[in-house]
Amino acid sequence: MGKFSFSQDLGIDLGTANTLVFVKGKGIVVREPSVVAKNNETGEVEAVGSSARNMIGRTPGNITVIRPMKDGVIADYDTTAVMMKYYIKKAMRNRSFFAKKPDVMVCVPSGITMVEERAVIDATKQAGAKDAFPIAEPFAAAIGAGLPVWEPTGSMIVDIGGGTTEVAVISLGGIVTSRSIRKAGDNLDEAIINYIRKQYSLMIGERSAESIKLDIGTAGEAAGDEEMDIRGRDLLTGLPKTITITSKEIAASLNDTVEAIVEAVKNTLEKTPPELAADIMDRGIVLSGGGSLLKNIDQVISDETKIPVFITENPLESVAIGTGKSIEYIRHFRSNSNVSSRPTVE
Ligand code: ADP
Ligand code: MG
Repeated sequence: MGKFSFSQDLGIDLGTANTLVFVKGKGIVVREPSVVAKNNETGEVEAVGSSARNMIGRTPGNITVIRPMKDGVIADYDTTAVMMKYYIKKAMRNRSFFAKKPDVMVCVPSGITMVEERAVIDATKQAGAKDAFPIAEPFAAAIGAGLPVWEPTGSMIVDIGGGTTEVAVISLGGIVTSRSIRKAGDNLDEAIINYIRKQYSLMIGERSAESIKLDIGTAGEAAGDEEMDIRGRDLLTGLPKTITITSKEIAASLNDTVEAIVEAVKNTLEKTPPELAADIMDRGIVLSGGGSLLKNIDQVISDETKIPVFITENPLESVAIGTGKSIEYIRHFRSNSNVSSRPTVE
């Protein structure tokens, strides 16, 4: 003890969709999709990050594109470690050759099991960390969003990522109540794929589905009636085909997932002690994560809870910023497992 040097330390947001690395004193230096392309024959890594992501749905037989994180947890351990190693290297590329290995603060979904958390810690170490400290994702998101997490006041954060939606009420530096559901951005994409397959017998890829969501996706009812041409493979003829879809039908296809997210928020509110619930009614609910950029999601949550809803300034970065900021408290995290404590998940 006593000899702490945090100059090397990193905060990593290991998300299902995106991985971000925060370097203390510098801020976010890596923002890349959590994607790896591997050669099946040699087992070699062909590409990591955006270049691997551009290959999704476009690979020849000998290359597989892997998203090693699924539903917020590690689905492919070795590939996750390879990816993290690549990003840690990238984040530290200007370091001296003699630089010590970094301590790494890495965020984990609040709902994961001990075994899943252990896997994240081990993968982080395998990727080059001296030591790895887990921080609960909604806690990091709340710090990144600038919420007063250390105060005796209730803050509610809803982080809608690719694989999970995390809802948490935080007060006095701890998670008071939370809920994690494995429904988020990826489910929205899947819902669009399924809808278009059923309705039009058209097969589209996940990249196309995501761009439909980004362009004309809406939570609740679509206000206008935007149209979009989409291309895919006709399941009946096997040939490429173009169809026109409307924002109204896409909104309808997203309904189930949006409802699940709203339900998670409501359930968490129901389990929140009254004083904290009163704080949240005053201060509002804060949304983070890429999924919070879905058009109208803030309005739908606000309508259903009767509580004001705000989207944090940089929804795609708040977890990384919070993870990075909390490096300052790494000693606290070392000694006080309360912060990353496991909330109840049903
Ligand atoms: P994770 O933390 O799981 O990696 P992110 O917080 O990076 O996830 O968010 C990624 C998700 O956000 C993806 O599902 C992506 O499609 C979605 N997303 C990003 N931008 C938008 C947008 N403008 N509208 C709707 N969804 C978006
Ligand atoms: Mg995230």
